Amino acid sequence: MRVRVEVIRGDITKSRVDAIVNAANPSLLGGGGVDGAIHRAAGPQLLAACRQLGSCPRGEARVTNGFNLPAHFIIHTPGPIWQGGIADEAHVLADCYRNSLQLAEKMGCRTVDFASISTGIYGFPLPRAARIATQTINEVISENPGKLRRIRMVAFDGETENAYKQALSAAYFNM
Ligand code: ADP
Repeated sequence: MRVRVEVIRGDITKSRVDAIVNAANPSLLGGGGVDGAIHRAAGPQLLAACRQLGSCPRGEARVTNGFNLPAHFIIHTPGPIWQGGIADEAHVLADCYRNSLQLAEKMGCRTVDFASISTGIYGFPLPRAARIATQTINEVISENPGKLRRIRMVAFDGETENAYKQALSAAYFNM
C-alpha cells in the first residue's frame, strides 16, 4: 500500500498521530523552539524520561512516550547546526529523517508527523533542508514502509509550508 506524504501548516504539539518527531538537541533535556513547546505540552514526565535516555548524537533518534500530548510517541532527533555546508550537515540531516522513520517503523507506527528539523535555531537553509527531507522520506518508504501509512511535515509558518510543498512536488515530478 502506498504511503501518503503531505505538508500541513500547524502546531505539532496538537498532532493526534502515532509519533511526532521533535527537533531536539543532543542533551535531550529540552530547549527553545519546537523542543520547548513539546516539553511544555507533554509535561514534566517527558523531562524525566529524557534524563533516563542520556544524550543522543546528532543524526540519531530516540523514542519516549507522548505523555500529555495527543501523540502516542515522541521521537527525538538532534539535527545538525548549519556551518556553511563544510561539516557534512546534509548527511547528518538525512540521517535524522532516516533514523527517525526506522524507529517509527520499529514501534509499529502508521502515522508520523515531523517538525522541520534544523531550519529554526540551527539555521539550515530551508529549501535545501526541505529537499533532503522529502528525498530521504521517499527513499525510506520505497525501501521498507513497514506499517507506515501517512507521513506529514508540520510547518509552523508559511515560508516553511511553501518550501516543503515545493520540494514535495519536485520529488513527485522526478519519480
Ligand atoms: P532546530 O534547533 O532544529 O533548528 P527549532 O525548534 O529552532 O529547531 O525550529 C525547527 C522548526 O520548528 C522551525 O520551522 C520552527 O518554526 C518550528 N516550530 C516551532 N514551534 C513549533 C510547533 N509548536 N509546531 C511545529 N513546528 C514548530
